[in-house]
Amino acid sequence: MLAKSYACLKSWDSGPAPIDEIIAQTTFRFRMAYSQRFPFQKIAEDPTTSARRGILNLPHGQVQTPAFMPVGTQGTVKGLTIDQIEATGADIILGNTYHLSLRPGSELIAELGGLHGFMGWDRPILTDSGGFQIFSLGDMTKVSEQGATFKSHLDGSTVHLRPEDSVRIQQELGSDIAMVLDHVVALPAGVDQVRDAMERSLRWAQRCQDSRSRSQQAMFGIVQGGLDPGLRQQSAEGLQRIGFDGYAIGGLSVGEEPAEMYRMLEVVCPVLPTDQPRYLMGVGRPIDLVEGVARGVDMFDCVMPTRNGRNALAFTADGPLRMRNQCHARDESPIEADCPCVACRHSRAYIRHLFQADEMLGPTLLSIHNLTFYQRLMARARQAIERGDYGSFLLDQRRRLMDANAGQEPV
Ligand SMILES: [Zn+2]
Repeated sequence: MLAKSYACLKSWDSGPAPIDEIIAQTTFRFRMAYSQRFPFQKIAEDPTTSARRGILNLPHGQVQTPAFMPVGTQGTVKGLTIDQIEATGADIILGNTYHLSLRPGSELIAELGGLHGFMGWDRPILTDSGGFQIFSLGDMTKVSEQGATFKSHLDGSTVHLRPEDSVRIQQELGSDIAMVLDHVVALPAGVDQVRDAMERSLRWAQRCQDSRSRSQQAMFGIVQGGLDPGLRQQSAEGLQRIGFDGYAIGGLSVGEEPAEMYRMLEVVCPVLPTDQPRYLMGVGRPIDLVEGVARGVDMFDCVMPTRNGRNALAFTADGPLRMRNQCHARDESPIEADCPCVACRHSRAYIRHLFQADEMLGPTLLSIHNLTFYQRLMARARQAIERGDYGSFLLDQRRRLMDANAGQEPV
């Protein structure tokens, strides 16, 4: 990498160059600067797929990739203590700008040591920008060039969120990774609407980059563009011209078929920098993670393991189990015999009883088990990449997870 950088500087000094070349070299220099501030070490690349094994270095520690990030919307992964989250194997968790800024407020959190001090989690945290929650509010949101205006779901008051506000809030929260504010549209949508939102997202990304002032915080750009390959490519290239510490792929898993999502990953990942992390936002099912890794994604987040856990659905290597079902009433076996989690020290019969009796331990235990399942899946993916046989791991997971999922998709 140093040799590459040197070559770049050499040609820079050797006389006038065409403007395209100057822009390309300038972009490359900025990109080098960003990638070096929060280095992403690539340990291995799979020979037959685009899977990568790496380590992302952040202010509060390292993240082994491919990585799954549990979602801690309100400064808590619902129902779990910080020790329980750590025991599932998570290196990094996600906090939610929209929710935390409305309650208790980012200024109060800043006063109490930032999100790390406030919740007592001393490992890396990523905060989203609020863009997806604004999208989720649907008709209640008005988007203009300046930013988004919406009504608080707590007290109905009017809230303005500009890109600069999102950055300020995330700086007050003190996360390791901040996300740019983006404009997400529901799919299917007309091409003009998708292009407008993508172009606005690029302008907002520039404003986010211009307004940041916290050096100990990485910032990721977010690739938008719906299901249009050309728009996705323009978005990815535009973000790289601005220069970020990593790149996320947003606006997917919002109603399209999985095959369409995979096709977009095949368009976007090859045009993203190879030496910086890639994060697929809000995805997804275990098979989506495995397929995403095969296409070059390094990071994922999703509420699926915890939301499903609270609804009595347990993920296993052979597909999900519905723990309220009568078939578990006398079953003395654990959810998964080889799972090291605390839930698997109990029988399926006991877990079923907790849900039937509406005991709060049931959702806690299944959230722990499901997060442990996702972390073990990522650990196995990392080992497969290191061995150089992610291709056969992928085929095996497709057979197990797709067969098992037929007819009983997770919620
Ligand atoms: Zn378990």
